[in-house]
Amino acid sequence: MTPYDVIIIGGSAAGLTAALYSSRLGLRSLVITKDIGGQMLLTNEIQNYPGFVMISGFELANKIKEQAELYGAEFIYDEVIALEESKECPSLCFKVKTRFDEYHAITLILAFGKTPRDLGVKGEDTFKGKGISYCTICDGPLFKGRIVAIIGSGDQALESAQYLTNVASKVYLIHNYDKPIGSEELVKQVLSLKNVESLPNSKVIEFQGSSKLEKVLIQNTKSKEIKAIDIDGAFIEIGYVSKTDFVKDLVKVNDRKEIEIDKECKTSYSGIFAAGDVTDFPYKQAVISASQGCIAALSAYNYIQRLKGKASLKADWKAIKQKA
Ligand SMILES: Cc1cc2nc3c(=O)[nH]c(=O)nc-3n(C[C@H](O)[C@H](O)[C@H](O)COP(=O)(O)OP(=O)(O)OC[C@H]3O[C@@H](n4cnc5c(N)ncnc54)[C@H](O)[C@@H]3O)c2cc1C
Repeated sequence: MTPYDVIIIGGSAAGLTAALYSSRLGLRSLVITKDIGGQMLLTNEIQNYPGFVMISGFELANKIKEQAELYGAEFIYDEVIALEESKECPSLCFKVKTRFDEYHAITLILAFGKTPRDLGVKGEDTFKGKGISYCTICDGPLFKGRIVAIIGSGDQALESAQYLTNVASKVYLIHNYDKPIGSEELVKQVLSLKNVESLPNSKVIEFQGSSKLEKVLIQNTKSKEIKAIDIDGAFIEIGYVSKTDFVKDLVKVNDRKEIEIDKECKTSYSGIFAAGDVTDFPYKQAVISASQGCIAALSAYNYIQRLKGKASLKADWKAIKQKA
């Protein structure tokens, strides 16, 4: 069995750029991803990606994917659930287990970003995709003229409310504070909208329904009173997390579960690299993920070159040493 040179997990800014670079360097490259675009799909407008005054996340991701495919990168749409070192290849390699299959590679690039945070209450799993959504821009239009609830209180939740008031007939804003904690101007704007009802000091305790979501049960954290509200949809807007549990026994993660990397995008495990929002790099932007995808691919290439006893690539065009 011939392993891939590199398997890249994640198909957004970091993973797609890694695939572009690795395949262009001649590495046999496979991207395994749940989607193309990741978090970039959650915004209609990216206005700060160099070279584009304005581009949708969908279009940007697909452009990078097409560029990677030009050089032979392969794509599988699946979810990775486990990684382990394997003895099934002629030399050291990794086994990547997905929901439906398994694959082998000499190196791995972890670029699986961040995912919306779950609320963790009864009924949430049952009604995911049946009324419960984590992406207002993606699913908001499905609730035209309906009653929806937004759970959350920061700018992300407030921007969702602002958008949904143009679509839904009524928007409940459920949050656990006296008033939403987002930026002052946004709070003022959202609370003045006539179809928004703020439900302060409230926490969701359960989602209920039959074949689809019909009610949310909330408890007032001061009076402890519980009430049921009829809704057609709920948008959970409480931030994003790195779902790194399946790699935490292999690579070091920090207390926010982000994968620790050095400046060459190497993780604590030789042959495994990481890039983008899944890492402990403090800034999270599409262009940063893309640049780290590039670094991770160059590092993976050099790692393989060293395994073969060949010279590594020095992509430093000013490589003349300065005299002290
Ligand atoms: C609403 C919103 C607006 C934003 N606006 C901007 C902006 O204007 N400008 C900007 O620069 N940045 C913006 N960002 C941030 C930007 O989208 C992220 O920094 C960028 O998408 C991170 O890219 P990434 O490749 O690191 O990861 P992500 O975009 O998080 O993508 C992760 C990828 O991994 C895949 N994946 C996850 N888990 C698995 C698994 N187990 N198996 C297989 N595949 C998996 C996902 O399907 C996805 O393809 C915004 C983010 C949001 C949420």
